[in-house]
Amino acid sequence: MTRSTKIVATIGPSSANPDVFARMLAVGLDVARLNFSHGKREDHARNTAMIRKVSAAAGREIAIMADLQGPKIRVGRFRGGKVELVSGTRFTLDINSEEGNHERVGLDYPDLVGDVVAGNVLLLNDGMIVLDVIAVVGTEIQTSVRVGGELSNNKGINRQGGGLSAPALTEKDVEDLRTAIGIGADLIAVSFPKSAADMLTARALTHDFAGNGVKPKLIAKIERAEAIPALKDIIEASDGIMVARGDLAVEVGNAAVPALQKRMIRMARASNRLVITATQMMESMIQNPVPTRAEVSDVANAVLDGTDAVMLSAESATGRYPVQTVEAMASICAEAERSCDNELDKVFLDRKFHRIDEAIALGALFTAYHLNATAIVALTESGATALWMSRHSSPIPIYAMTARRDSARFMALFRNVVPIVTASWDDRESALEQVELTLVKHGFAKSGDVVVLTVGQPMATAGGTNSLKIIKVK
Ligand code: PGA
Ligand code: MN
Repeated sequence: MTRSTKIVATIGPSSANPDVFARMLAVGLDVARLNFSHGKREDHARNTAMIRKVSAAAGREIAIMADLQGPKIRVGRFRGGKVELVSGTRFTLDINSEEGNHERVGLDYPDLVGDVVAGNVLLLNDGMIVLDVIAVVGTEIQTSVRVGGELSNNKGINRQGGGLSAPALTEKDVEDLRTAIGIGADLIAVSFPKSAADMLTARALTHDFAGNGVKPKLIAKIERAEAIPALKDIIEASDGIMVARGDLAVEVGNAAVPALQKRMIRMARASNRLVITATQMMESMIQNPVPTRAEVSDVANAVLDGTDAVMLSAESATGRYPVQTVEAMASICAEAERSCDNELDKVFLDRKFHRIDEAIALGALFTAYHLNATAIVALTESGATALWMSRHSSPIPIYAMTARRDSARFMALFRNVVPIVTASWDDRESALEQVELTLVKHGFAKSGDVVVLTVGQPMATAGGTNSLKIIKVK
């Protein structure tokens, strides 16, 4: 069963063991997400070591994505762990409150008092509870409960419409970023950026902490109302984005999210960036061994929208069926791709480019399509040629061969790209021979097949792709 859409799965108590992880890998996981909202440095280091070991044994290069917590504002803790808020009653958020009860609770973000005014609407626990702000007095935000329900320790708070002043990178995030780079994360997901500047700050820190080592790529999680008008610039400042539907839906209203998802996917691809669609995709599989019809449609629609990857959160981190969920997701993706319009997309013809390597990449795509080639092979250093080609829907798989492990891992996220780590080839003739052998060995092509290849001369220089070669496999 071929599948070109990638699967990101969050590692947590349900999946942080070698046996389960090996099975998730076997049924389709491409990117492992470590959620830095939970766990300590040792936990992330241990999980990373486990992931690397199991993937190496399976002969796979997968990406590890460290997802920073960001300025998620949370209520404090309650005496009994939780309370039941009743609609119509008063409830106070108080930065000085120690132990919460049904009348008041603490806050982990003192500045909220300065950000909120009477008339604002606060949404707790992903919008399950709705509070109307009546007054802000000293350290207290006094509210009236519009929609009540159970509220337990440390649940998140959003303001409807967004606009909270919290910076995208908290002190904890900066420390976590250092940890993530230290343990060799390939991707860093930045939570709640509101502008390109937030991503540039993260980029500068990444360069600082990585020194001469490999610099991880940055994913901007789009989950704040203010990020929407700044989308174009945030995308430009990032390597990819995440349609972070959980918080986004709370801030902009959930009915606005499906259209935003389509727009974000379109914009990311048009800017040669990656895109992950996230949150509640297979939610019911936290408890059940099969997804709902609505979830099947949701995953399939994200595939049809053109996402690079679909993501699992609690389903794989704490759910009962982590392996079955990845497996079900993989088969939904594969089936949806079969029903995709398998033409080379027409936008392709309007794409402007000025770089030689980009011209070769798109020339290869066009040529392969019209020759009905079996495969495209990109001999790539940074992965850029594979990225350009994979931004257009096309029925021909792209095999990206590279000697750079970091590039291969990054490409694990690219839709329709199969990364393959090879030896470092410097002689072009023997490289071409090796390409054919590699394709045949993996069963990606057979004798007589047409393969379109992009390569640089001299080889092994990033940005050096300058030739297109069409071969008939011997
Ligand atoms: P989270 O981000 O799961 O870290 O909150 C994703 C989202 O908000 O959708
Ligand atoms: Mn979020």
